[in-house]
Amino acid sequence: MITKRIRRDRVDPFFHTQAWRQLRAAYIIKHGERCQGLEHDPRQPRSGEAVRLELDHIIERQDWPQGALVWENLILLCRACHGKKTVATNIRRREHEHYYMRAARNDPKLSIMPNDVARHFAEQERQRLVDRLKRKAEIDAKRQGEP
Ligand SMILES: [Zn+2]
Repeated sequence: MITKRIRRDRVDPFFHTQAWRQLRAAYIIKHGERCQGLEHDPRQPRSGEAVRLELDHIIERQDWPQGALVWENLILLCRACHGKKTVATNIRRREHEHYYMRAARNDPKLSIMPNDVARHFAEQERQRLVDRLKRKAEIDAKRQGEP
């Protein structure tokens, strides 16, 4: 019985829902099988057979359960970037803490980030990502043009 419980805990049923699988497929079709990590190690490939990609939530489900199926809240990461992102998100989550705390003071039962704050946070994170990828592409293009 104990073995069964441990195994069930490890396999989160959310990732087996049709809604998640469809969203995941649509996201990969739109963005391609490519790591979108901001701090991706340039010596490592972003795509290819050796790269294991994970579709991650910018704001974790434990903070924002309603954001589990929100497109803006998704990011495709290789395993190394996934680890780095967790650290970076924790830092920026602290920057948003005053919103978080204010809302939690108004409602002592509130243990998750309010929906609008979380969505705003996710949009900021995504914009940050898009800007960084754009800048990186410009730098790469310049480098390729050099003799
Ligand atoms: Zn990566």
